[in-house]
Parts: sequence; structure tokens; C-alpha cells
Amino acid sequence: MSEKLHTAQCLKGQTRNCIYPWTDVEIQDNGDIRPCCARKACCHLTNASLAKILNGDEMRKLRSSLLSGNLDHTCMNCRLQPFRSKKRPHREGEGVEARSRRATGLRCG
Ligand code: SF4
Repeated sequence: MSEKLHTAQCLKGQTRNCIYPWTDVEIQDNGDIRPCCARKACCHLTNASLAKILNGDEMRKLRSSLLSGNLDHTCMNCRLQPFRSKKRPHREGEGVEARSRRATGLRCG
């Protein structure tokens, strides 16, 4: 799917239906920390404790952007999570990941 199409699908009042920055983190064998498998490493474990990283500015900024719909390039063009209205809270029972994976053929982990 083209980048242009993904961008065009994000209408005003929408955001990604994503809770990864609240529920998951990837710790790679070299110590790099990634908020999800679609993003580059944001920190390294030798620089700070995991608790400090999870509560640090970068992770807070990412969570805030998902709540506000002010998405950066990576979230805007993410192929893992669909868009949803900002007014409707995320609901886990919707099978978001399964739908996304079926649609894109991608999976985390
Ligand atoms: S890139 Fe995708 S999976 Fe990662 S935080 Fe953004 S919306 Fe969620």
C-alpha cells in the first residue's frame, strides 16, 4: 500500500488504534529499546533504567501524539494499526491486530 494512501486515510479527528506504547516494549539483544516493532530504537538500556525510559520524554511524547492524533511520520504511515476516531476509545476485543495482520501480512515480534 502506498505511503500516500495511508496519509490520505487519516482524516481530521482520527488517530491510530494503537496501545503499544502503553502495553509493550521491545528490548533487543544489544540493549536497544523500541516502543514497537515499526519504530526505530529510541533509547539504550545502558543510558537509563527501563523505568526511566518508559516514563521518559520520548515515550510520553509518542503516547500523547497517539491520543491527540498529531502523529509523526512513522505512526502516520504505520501498517500495523488502523485509524480510529479520537473520540472512540480503543477497545481490545475488536481484533485490531488480527485485522491489521491479515490486511498487511505484517506482524510484530
Ligand atoms: S508505529 Fe504503529 S504500532 Fe508503532 S506506535 Fe505508531 S501506530 Fe503504534
